[in-house]
Amino acid sequence: MTRLAQTLGLSEFQTEILATVRRFVDKEIIPTAQELEHADTYPQAIVDQMKEMGLFGLMIPEEYGGLGESLLTYALCVEELARGWMSVSGVINTHFIVAYMLRQHGTDAQKQRYLPRMAIGETRGAFSMSEPELGSDVAAIRSRAVRKADGSYTLDGQKMWLTNGGSSTLVAVLVRTDEGADKPHRNLTAFLIEKPTGFGEVAPGLTIPGKIDKLGYKGIDTTELIFDGYVAQADDVLGEAPGQGFFQMMDGIEVGRVNVSARACGVGIRAFELAVRYAQQRETFGKPIADHQAIAFQLAEMATKVEAAHLMMVNAARLKDSGERNDVAAGMAKYLASEFCAEVTQQSFRIHGGYGYSKEYEIERLMRDAPFLLIGEGTSEIQKNIISKRLLADYRI
Ligand SMILES: Cc1cc2nc3c(=O)[nH]c(=O)nc-3n(C[C@H](O)[C@H](O)[C@H](O)COP(=O)(O)OP(=O)(O)OC[C@H]3O[C@@H](n4cnc5c(N)ncnc54)[C@H](O)[C@@H]3O)c2cc1C
Repeated sequence: MTRLAQTLGLSEFQTEILATVRRFVDKEIIPTAQELEHADTYPQAIVDQMKEMGLFGLMIPEEYGGLGESLLTYALCVEELARGWMSVSGVINTHFIVAYMLRQHGTDAQKQRYLPRMAIGETRGAFSMSEPELGSDVAAIRSRAVRKADGSYTLDGQKMWLTNGGSSTLVAVLVRTDEGADKPHRNLTAFLIEKPTGFGEVAPGLTIPGKIDKLGYKGIDTTELIFDGYVAQADDVLGEAPGQGFFQMMDGIEVGRVNVSARACGVGIRAFELAVRYAQQRETFGKPIADHQAIAFQLAEMATKVEAAHLMMVNAARLKDSGERNDVAAGMAKYLASEFCAEVTQQSFRIHGGYGYSKEYEIERLMRDAPFLLIGEGTSEIQKNIISKRLLADYRI
């Protein structure tokens, strides 16, 4: 049991579920992650066990068959999963955001229709805002839905970077509609698009071209999505509220940021665990490298970064659970945890010397996974925009 990243004040249930997930990670994920990742193989057996453990329904209310747990419980489970393999946490990430948005913004009929199936992992969510020409600048979305006389919509355009694009069956997708609003973001609408898994033209007018080949974050599929005359119904609009998509998606992204911080914490913890073990095994100049102060100090720095990131992540999750606004806390946690994760993996890599460059050692995978955390759910620059805007408003002279 690691002594870093402990969380005070957890309930008996939280302690129990975290211990279960930790055992699962140590027994089922860490021993297989390297091989699956190198072969870019989808971790189906792991995903099936996660379904059995109820992880897909962790935050879905009990009345819809979920466990009704808090964002904190969810984030701590994600931290554990990412310690094993970041891609596994990616499998539930977009699912969790879509379930959260449905819970917060869906109509009763939409909740009844999707949440019970999402709780058992039968329906699996993906989340789509980005396009080939834009990621940070969400309000510039070009894909559009045109309302027809019968109330249905025709969707056209190209979306980019869908995590779980091929393996999901329910995509929350943000497109432009003409609501006549003067601000661009008020003309954006979120649709819930149900589709089969797989690649190619999976439904009339909806194509998932194939997996994008990535530096890391392998095993799970990241795809494009092309609409070409796809027809959606009026009740496919999230909350049946056209023009509210930007706000609904931003709400989803905010909890997503806590989730990305948790993943960064998990990857950082694993990088530290690998370094602290290796530093005691590897000898140079007649003693373990941990006995060279330069290495020992690196371990101290890494542990401090891991601890700071964990505390900020826990704070952001608890703030959201308490019902308080948490945009600054979530932005800070995401920014700090992802930057520290990149630094800690780099330090662990250096401690491994030449072996860190070998594909036999786990640290090379962590080195390739960590950079994604600097980008996903908004880059560090975008987090700094959010944080500084709020601070300048709060501290206005
Ligand atoms: C593996 C992977 C999975 C992803 N999964 C999803 C997903 O499931 N759903 C989804 O919708 N998207 C997803 N994304 C997309 C991701 O959210 C975007 O890549 C990210 O938001 C950045 O957008 P961009 O790539 O268009 O970069 P850009 O927005 O073009 O930014 C380029 C650079 O400019 C900087 N920059 C931009 N604007 C500003 C500014 N105002 N001030 C200062 N600097 C600025 C950025 O920080 C960055 O360094 C995924 C991306 C990857 C790589």
